[in-house]
Amino acid sequence: MNEFILKTVKVSKNVFVAVEPTVPGYKILRTGKTHAEIERQYGEMAYEECERIISEIERHVDDFLRVYTHQELGDYCFYCNSPAELDEDGRPVCCERAIQDYNEWAERQIVGEKE
Ligand SMILES: [Zn+2]
Repeated sequence: MNEFILKTVKVSKNVFVAVEPTVPGYKILRTGKTHAEIERQYGEMAYEECERIISEIERHVDDFLRVYTHQELGDYCFYCNSPAELDEDGRPVCCERAIQDYNEWAERQIVGEKE
């Protein structure tokens, strides 16, 4: 049996700049403007802010091992931008449009068409 695949977009979340000093076992984290619960509209902005902070750090700070931007990619519904979620039966829960996709998919499963 095929599984329904929700149409999603990848979005940056939990974005921050990490600075690793040369002292072993010792780390300093520098956060961007919006580091917690980054949602779709802030992900890109936060990433750019982190990149800006990195270039500032590289210009002004000595004696660190490396500096980089951390980000995770989350799956969000293509239609409504909610975090992509299916219920225990594999049906989308976020919006009518996603449910419509599911219903059309389910109909094709019954008819036996190829995906
Ligand atoms: Zn949705």
